[in-house]
Amino acid sequence: MPQPISKHFIIEPLTDGIYAAIAKPGGLAGSNAGIVDLGDRVVLFDTFMSPQAAHDLANIAMQLTGHPVRAAVNSHWHFDHGLGNPALGADVTVISTRPTRALIAERVPPFIAEQKISIPCRLAELEKKFLNEHDPALLQEIGEEIDYYRLELVELPHLALRLPDQTFDQQMTLYGSARTAEVITFGGGHTVSDAILYLPDEQIAFVADLLFNGFHPWLGDGDPAEWLRIYEQIEALDPLVEVLVPGHGAVATPDALAALRRYIPVLQQLAAEVVQRGGTADDAAALRVPAAFCEWIGQPTFANNMRFLFERAAIASE
Ligand SMILES: [Zn+2]
Repeated sequence: MPQPISKHFIIEPLTDGIYAAIAKPGGLAGSNAGIVDLGDRVVLFDTFMSPQAAHDLANIAMQLTGHPVRAAVNSHWHFDHGLGNPALGADVTVISTRPTRALIAERVPPFIAEQKISIPCRLAELEKKFLNEHDPALLQEIGEEIDYYRLELVELPHLALRLPDQTFDQQMTLYGSARTAEVITFGGGHTVSDAILYLPDEQIAFVADLLFNGFHPWLGDGDPAEWLRIYEQIEALDPLVEVLVPGHGAVATPDALAALRRYIPVLQQLAAEVVQRGGTADDAAALRVPAAFCEWIGQPTFANNMRFLFERAAIASE
């Protein structure tokens, strides 16, 4: 059977009934998601950054499995993982941790209000820039950005708050006729509260933004030390996890956890050095990306991480 197609993501089958949905650049997925067929119903892991992409995800899940979507997990509160919630039917139970639900309630309405103002402005700016540009390479780049913002503009009226219907504190088990899925939180590292979906029989875990593969991970909404502690808990899962689906980037193995274990202390050290020599947050943000991470996507995130770690190092040195 040919894979069903969405312009927002590609489907990567992991095993029978379990699929990773990997975001396509320029589309409205914005992050990766998961489809897990429990045998009689489907649970989705994350709902992307737009109802349009989430709508495709639910339809494709039904086509691939023949079973209806009945549950969706929001891994954490970030907009690129849960703004697709409104596309899901009333018969879909949206699940998150209790702190994640509270953060969605607090942060999503002002974000949507801000998007309704900023996206038309940004698009108008880009269209003006396009008309005044002559360099073919830049025209191509601006053209791609315009295409993206046009998609966003069409999506704006559909953005709405849809809160999780059900919360859990540490772990909840979803029992199906074919398999069992565990929704687990080990606390918060990337944000205040991060949840994963663990499939013990298949040794697969969807870990959302606890793993960025080939992207700079955003550190500033969480706690880097806790993040590394959570890695130990993921590695201690029994049966062992063999396949990890990250929030951004390609499907990985547990070896990929080593990259963040290097990244966090290296950046912390750089920030501490700036504090020691009496530098500023701007100095920290202006540092060159260390060679080991210079090919990762999202250099602005590196600069923001350096600001965040500088502030923490400055407080610690007082
Ligand atoms: Zn995130």
